[in-house]
Amino acid sequence: MKVLVTGGAGYIGSATVAQLAEAGHDVLVYDNLSKGHRDAVHPRAQLVVGDVGDRAALDAAMSAFHPEAVLHFAAWIEAGESMKEPERFFRNNTANALNLLESMLAHDVRRLVFSSTAALYGEPERTPITEDARLLPTNAYGESKLLVEQMLAWFHRIHGFSTASLRYFNAAGAAGERGERHSPETHLVPIILQVALGQRPHISIFGSDYPTPDGTCVRDYIHISDLAAAHLLALEKLASSAEPARLTYNLGNGRGYSVKEVVECARQVTGHPIPAKLEPRRPGDPAVLVASSEKAQRELGWSPRHASLEEIISSAWEFAKTQV
Ligand code: UDP
Repeated sequence: MKVLVTGGAGYIGSATVAQLAEAGHDVLVYDNLSKGHRDAVHPRAQLVVGDVGDRAALDAAMSAFHPEAVLHFAAWIEAGESMKEPERFFRNNTANALNLLESMLAHDVRRLVFSSTAALYGEPERTPITEDARLLPTNAYGESKLLVEQMLAWFHRIHGFSTASLRYFNAAGAAGERGERHSPETHLVPIILQVALGQRPHISIFGSDYPTPDGTCVRDYIHISDLAAAHLLALEKLASSAEPARLTYNLGNGRGYSVKEVVECARQVTGHPIPAKLEPRRPGDPAVLVASSEKAQRELGWSPRHASLEEIISSAWEFAKTQV
C-alpha cells in the first residue's frame, strides 16, 4: 500500500515505518523534525519535512503521493508537560489532527491508523483495562487524544472513514538502531538509563504514596517492535474490510510494573547502582495503567513477542549506549 506516516521520524513512528518498508509498503514520512530524527527514517521511505498544522504543505504531500492510508503519529506526548501548558497539546494534538482529517477528506483518503493512548482512561475502575472502560482522562494530554478519537467517530459515521485507534500503554525499548531519544527526555526508562550512563546523578521517583504494593505508579511497558507490528495488522484489517471500519485496541502486555521495579530491573541489566530519590507526585498521573489486549490478540492476531521487562530494558540499554 501507499502509506503516508505523520511523525514517521519519531520514536514509535520510525520503528513502524521500518516494518512497513521491510514488508514492501511504499511509505512517505511527513514530519516537521521538531522531535524526530532524519536518520531514523528508513532508507526506503521518502521524507517530506512539514508540519501537520500546515494545511497547504499537507495538501501538497497528499496530492503528490496519493496515499491509500494514513498513520498519524505526530503529536506531543509528555503527560506531565500537558498539565503545565494544555494549550500546546490541544493545538498540536487536537486542532492539527482536524487539519489532517480535512486534508484526507479533500483528497479522498479515508483510512487512518491513529496513535491513541492509555491516558484516555484516567484512573481506571477495573484492571486490566478493556476498551469499553470509562474514558475520563486525568491529564490534558489524554484529553487532547480523546477529542481526536471522538472526531474519528463522526468522520467514520458521516464520511465513511475507516479508522483504527491504537491505545498504547507505555512504549519502551529499542528496535535495533531505532530507540527513544527525546530532548528533553521525560520518559521513565530512558531517564533511568541516562543515570546508568552517568548523564544524570539520580532518578527522581514521582510519588511513593500511591495505592499500589510499593507506593509507586504501576505501568504496562510494551516493546516498540510489538507496537509497530500492531500497526501493520490494523492497516491490513482496515484495507480488507468491505464496510467502513471503526476499530479500537489497547496495546500492552497485560502485566504491570511499578516505577521501583523498573529501576531495579535496570540496575540488573546495566550493573549500575542507579541512585533513586523519592519526590512528590507528578500532577495527572493515574496510579495503575495495565492493559487487557485480548481484543487485539483476538481480532488482529497480534501478540507481543518481547514481553519481558528485562528484554525491553536490555534493548533500550543497547541503544542508549550508542547515543553517548
Ligand atoms: N516517572 C518517574 N520519574 C521520571 C519519569 C517518570 O517516577 O523521571 C514515573 C511517572 O510518574 C509515571 C511512570 O514513571 O508514573 C511512567 O511515566 P512516563 O512519563 O514514562 O510515561 P506515562 O505513563 O506518563 O505515559
